[in-house]
Amino acid sequence: MIDIHVHFFPESVFRAIWKFFENGSKGLWKIKYKLHGEKIRDYLKSEGASRFTTLVYAHKPGMADFLNDYIYQSGQMIPELIPFGTIFAGDGEVKKTALRIFEDFHFFGIKLHPFVSNEELDDPRLFAAYEIMEGLGKVLVCHPGSGPVYQKLDGAKRLRTVLRQFPKLKVVVAHCGAFEYGNYLSLSDEFESVYYDTAMNCVHTEVFHDNCPGREFFLKYANRILFGSDFPNIPYSYTEQVDAIRHFHFEKTLENDIFFGNAKRLLGIEN
Ligand SMILES: [Zn+2]
Repeated sequence: MIDIHVHFFPESVFRAIWKFFENGSKGLWKIKYKLHGEKIRDYLKSEGASRFTTLVYAHKPGMADFLNDYIYQSGQMIPELIPFGTIFAGDGEVKKTALRIFEDFHFFGIKLHPFVSNEELDDPRLFAAYEIMEGLGKVLVCHPGSGPVYQKLDGAKRLRTVLRQFPKLKVVVAHCGAFEYGNYLSLSDEFESVYYDTAMNCVHTEVFHDNCPGREFFLKYANRILFGSDFPNIPYSYTEQVDAIRHFHFEKTLENDIFFGNAKRLLGIEN
């Protein structure tokens, strides 16, 4: 399997995130796997995920470079990583950062989390990076939907603004766009490179209700669905996420596409 939605922060940042998840003002959920570094690789391999991304995001200036350096260094030691970095508009150096992570570090893409960074996807300060990514075929994984606890519902509209400017930009909509599934699915009618990851979708959990877009969603653009988990920041076992997809009993070729074929094509990974 390839897992397109794995977080890979330095230990200190993970600890702060886990604290927020467990004790923050909203108290989201208890983290089942407090793993970092090589332990993430070891655990995922034991579950059958042989390759996985390294999603990181920044919420203040100066943080993106620190995270990108960490991912680069980790990638040198852990060949199973599919390195993803991040950019932060507030740094005022988005183009420089993008050139560094794509031309020097050869990352596969970036992750943006508008709700955490407090920067919208259609912030024009990010466009210089999108232009570079579109040209190089790099992937933007983003979390524009309102699930599980965000209040804004205009993510699909903002993503459309970006895609009108950069129609070939490869975008992965995390969590299948929960909860505004239909709005995100319709982006695929217009743009050829809009994909979806299954992180936290269709598992039985009280902390993320309405998390399943349903069978028809997966079948409409079956070649755009990528298996993702949100590991290690999940409150249930990794197997539950795998089973949540298997329980649809899709045709074997389609299931294989979801678990690795689509990701291989999108990322240009051989084996
Ligand atoms: Zn995530």
